[in-house]
Amino acid sequence: MSQLKFNITDVSVNYGPFTALQGINMEVKQGELVVLLGANGAGKSTIFRAISGLTKPKKGEIQFLGKKVNGMSPDKLVKLGIVQCAEGRKLFPEMSVSENLQMGGFVHRKNKKELKMIMEHVYELFPILKEKKGDHAGSMSGGQQQMLAIGRALMSKPKLLMLDEPSLGLAPLIVKQMFEIIQRINKEGTTILLAEQNASAALKIADRGYVIENGQIVVKGSSDELLNNQEIRKAYIGA
Ligand code: ATP
Repeated sequence: MSQLKFNITDVSVNYGPFTALQGINMEVKQGELVVLLGANGAGKSTIFRAISGLTKPKKGEIQFLGKKVNGMSPDKLVKLGIVQCAEGRKLFPEMSVSENLQMGGFVHRKNKKELKMIMEHVYELFPILKEKKGDHAGSMSGGQQQMLAIGRALMSKPKLLMLDEPSLGLAPLIVKQMFEIIQRINKEGTTILLAEQNASAALKIADRGYVIENGQIVVKGSSDELLNNQEIRKAYIGA
């Protein structure tokens, strides 16, 4: 199997006259958990949108496994192994928890046995989803919906799982659980790119990180380097 390699090279994005991203360079390697840190409006979601083809870069290229992926349709990206779990969750609220998971496994729908195994694994990661498998997704709490969104993304067997602010709006105890599960998913072999405002919790589980301000990467380094960087601590950790 070829080594997973994901590269963003010199990507710039404009919204009309507004420059949202300028010359972004990032890479994620096989097995890594990489965090993209930044305040509200810094450009994290725009990077995710550029990767998933929702926003067209003015310049630059995004490559996965040696292929150019910017401009690819979302279903092609999923088939290739890039799966995004969006902020705001985008579940099917009237469908049950298990139906939502089945939708996530659509690309592998021919392999029923494998889908069943993945679903069992999702239920093991998130026991609450098993408990509520017959309930409407829309009836669950915000934290449970976030877990379902991640579970649904896992159903498509991602090679690169992109998580946009999975801790947003969750109670502190649930945030802790969420980060532990994200770390476990990574340790079990899924490469992860995580966008977060919660710098301290994210850096504790990540291998490396990038900090984005006003559409530009201003610092990058190992999690330890970033955790020990006084300016990062002041700006993002509050210590
Ligand atoms: P958040 O955590 O709030 O999602 P973010 O770091 O993900 O923040 P982006 O959503 O990528 O930030 O936004 C980057 C900048 O681009 C912001 O200044 C935002 O106001 C602007 N922006 C985002 N979407 C659009 C759009 N469709 N049209 C114009 N400007 C936009």
